[in-house]
Parts: sequence; C-alpha cells; structure tokens
Amino acid sequence: MALIVQKYGGTSVGDTERMKNVARRCIAAQKAGHDVVVVVSAMSGETNRLLKLVAQITDRPSEREQDVVVATGEQVSIGLVAMAIQAQGGLATSFLGHQVQIVTDSIFSKARIKRIDAEKIVEALKQKHIVVVAGFQGQDEQGNVTTLGRGGSDTTAVALAAALKADACEIYTDVDGVYTTDPNVCPAARKLERISYEEMLDLASVGAKVLQIRSVEFAMKYKVPLWVKSSFTDDPGTLVCEEDKSMENVIVSGIAYDKNEAKLAISGVPDIPGVAARIFGALDEQNVVVDLIVQTASKDGKTDLSFTVGKTDLVKAKEVVERVAKEINAGGVETDGDVAKVSIVGVGMRNHSGVAAKMFQILASEGINIQLISTSEIKVSCLIQSKYTELAVRALHTAFGLDKAPAAG
Ligand code: ADP
Ligand code: ASP
Ligand code: MG
Repeated sequence: MALIVQKYGGTSVGDTERMKNVARRCIAAQKAGHDVVVVVSAMSGETNRLLKLVAQITDRPSEREQDVVVATGEQVSIGLVAMAIQAQGGLATSFLGHQVQIVTDSIFSKARIKRIDAEKIVEALKQKHIVVVAGFQGQDEQGNVTTLGRGGSDTTAVALAAALKADACEIYTDVDGVYTTDPNVCPAARKLERISYEEMLDLASVGAKVLQIRSVEFAMKYKVPLWVKSSFTDDPGTLVCEEDKSMENVIVSGIAYDKNEAKLAISGVPDIPGVAARIFGALDEQNVVVDLIVQTASKDGKTDLSFTVGKTDLVKAKEVVERVAKEINAGGVETDGDVAKVSIVGVGMRNHSGVAAKMFQILASEGINIQLISTSEIKVSCLIQSKYTELAVRALHTAFGLDKAPAAG
C-alpha cells in the first residue's frame, strides 16, 4: 500500500463534470489500495477573474487583501470535489491551507512554505478518507492568508508529498507530460518519458509553466518521484527524477517562453559605484524579483539600464524606480509590458560553444529583434516583442533538432 498525492489543475476541475471525473480517479486510486491526498486548484479562469476584480478596485492593491481574495478560488474547488467523492460513495474531507497548517513566510502573493503540520491529514487518512487540500494557499506565522504565486498548487502538492513522505506525487494537467517545449505552441514538440530534476528546474525557471519552479525544487530536495500526467487519459506521462545515463544527452533539451515579464528602462544613469546597488536594493526591499539586466556602455559619465520584472510587479517597480531615479539624478523611466522571454535550456551547452550565437542567428533569420540577453552555463534567454513568441519558439525548436519525426503516411 502506498501514499499518493495527486494534484489536479484548473482545467481538470474546470466544471462540475470534470470534478466528477477527478472524484472517480481518486476513488480508483484508493480502491487500488492507496492512501490518497488530492490537491486541487481553482476552476480554470477563476484566479484570473479574481485578479481582475482586484484591478477594478485599484492598481496598487494591499498585497495582504489581494491574497485574501485570490485564495478563495481553491476553497470552492475543494468543497465541490470532496462532495463529488462523497456522491460517488467515497469518504472525503476537505482542508484549507490554514486548516492543515501550511505555514509560509509573509511575502504575500509569492509566499514560500516554511513547514507543514500534516497531523489532521494523517488522522483523516487513518479513517480511510480521501483528503482534499486547497492548493496555492497557506498562512503566515501571524495567521494571515498567503498565496504561493501563480501555479502554486503544484508546490502545495509536492510539499505535502515531501511532508507526508508520500511514495509518489502525480500532477494531473491538460497535457499528457513534459514536452521539449509547450505542445500548445509547437505541434512538433516531443513528449519526454523522463526528465531529470535539474533540467526540469531549468525549464521551469525560464517559464515552462507545466510545473511551478518551487515544486521542482521541493521534489529535487526531498527526492519525491514526480509524475506529470493528463487527467483526461491513462497515458503514463513523464517522470521527473534523478539523472541517469540513459537520459538523452543533447545540447539543447528544451525551449521555453515567458510572457509574464515586463521591461523597465532608466536612461541617463550616473556611471558611478553604488548606483546599481541603490536601484536594485530598493526593488528588493519591496520584494520585486528582477530577472534580465543590461547596462549600456558609459557615455559622458552616464549609462542606460534596462531590466525585467514580473508583470504583476510592474506598477510597484515603476514607482520605486522613479523615486530612486530622482534621488540619483537619472533621466526618465520607461516601461514596456509587450515583451516575452524566450529561452533555450540544456546541460549539454556546458561543453559546446556557439550555442548562443546560433540562437541569435535563428531569431535574426526570422526578423526578430533581441532587446535583452542573458546567458548562463546551461541556458540562454532573449527578450523579444511578445507577438513573435510562437514564431521564435517554433523556429528554435526546429533549428536545434528537437522536432519529433513527422507522422508516417
Ligand atoms: P494546470 O492548470 O493543470 O496547472 P498549467 O496551465 O499551469 O496547468 O500548465 C500546463 C500547461 O503548461 C500546458 O497546457 C502547456 O501549454 C504548458 N507548457 C509549457 N511548457 C510546457 C512543456 N515543456 N511541456 C508541457 N506543457 C508545457
Ligand atoms: N489557482 C492558482 C493559479 O491560477 C494556482 C494554481 O492553479 O496552481 O495560479
Ligand atoms: Mg499550473
């Protein structure tokens, strides 16, 4: 007998029929002899709907109150799924984040899980209940409601699997596994039977939203065998696990894109020591995460500084940067939300030169201008105009030899 944590994403609980399907799957897993904990997301579109309501009130919401609002989507889902299990003759109990004591830090809208006190879950499992837990939410040490960032239900599931020492964590979603790139954007994407934690971490870190990055970090740290599967088929899916020799050894293993970043550019920044520390220190104080950064060559003692932040932090970041720009006598601040980051990832890049250059050539041959670049040992990211995202992903996927063989006939 095993303990399995299953997580169902927004599409998988998108309407009540789909919730009944989830209930059937949970009951089947229990009938197969397992203890079952199921984590669910809000119904698809619900978190966006709640964020729109917030935006209709203010563009600078109290982050505490925003979390109070957006955490509600998952509450509806757990109640309905627990009822669907009961209606099919099963035993089920639902729990919100604070009821199972998912304790986080106090960084609203991107809180990190600090600990989980799973006593209530263990108790309910002993009574043979299927335990239905709300994804995405927790509470801080002061009892405030917190949320874990978009896609955070994945992290709830893996963190619970780690805390309960589960035998497996299964992430059920609307695709049947992890692909070389988003199969909804690139029809030639190939499904991977297995992928190492490291490579999945890299893909997630540059925007492959099939798994939230924190969930992969947890899985890697606690060695949780993590499956990505479809809630609509019986396909075995993809196993995210430790690297072994049989894994594909290619230069570029995947392509990802991220449309959730926005660019800020500060012109006329005095080119003296300490200025970057002032700007990025002020952003850090406000918990704004900065990604790509580029500084132009100094001219007449001034430089231009461009960088990206999460789109949801853009208004806050602009406020901070405008204030600091005045203090340091910099010029104007411009923003652009119409950008996307396209990245290539692969551990094989470590031993090969010219991979970045090839990426730039491919984008150039499609007429795509590169605004910012960032490289590391195993990934290269380019910021481009958002309307070219799909074109860039497909062109890179083909050029780096990732396309699947065309179907016979
Ligand atoms: P859920 O609501 O189930 O959490 P998400 O929308 O968060 O689902 O994640 C699943 C989506 O991730 C897929 O529909 C797909 O468009 C996207 N995706 C991005 N990159 C990949 C990839 N490399 N492999 C599979 N899916 C990917
Ligand atoms: N409902 C949250 C979101 O849409 C969390 C999740 O689905 O994982 O981001
Ligand atoms: Mg998700």
